[in-house]
Amino acid sequence: MHEYSLASAIVEQVKDIVQQNNANKVKKINVTAGPYEMVIPDLLKDAYGIITSELEKFKGSTLELEILPAKINCLECEYTGEPDKEGDQEFAFNFKCPHCGSRDTHLKIQYLTIETVDLEIPDEVTSA
Ligand SMILES: [Zn+2]
Repeated sequence: MHEYSLASAIVEQVKDIVQQNNANKVKKINVTAGPYEMVIPDLLKDAYGIITSELEKFKGSTLELEILPAKINCLECEYTGEPDKEGDQEFAFNFKCPHCGSRDTHLKIQYLTIETVDLEIPDEVTSA
């Protein structure tokens, strides 16, 4: 299960962030991924729930996945950004450049990325 290993990679990264910030708890994690990374949000959330169920600092936390719009690089005119329209099967999912109309484009890979992590950080104790 692809989502399980992704969720476990997220948890490992967030564990480091928790440690760096001396946080008590993780409240919410926001992640993003491109539309062609084949991440199924529900499966990712389920996997996250399973992995974190035994982790005290992750209890009650939520994981939100936002799917980003596709992005292409045009090899003809060097346009970078959203394609004209969705890739169609006829062209092996090659996207059309909205700038010059070329299909000589590369889909940008947008791996699953942690955007923000909400943590519960204890108040700083000021020692006299
Ligand atoms: Zn172009």
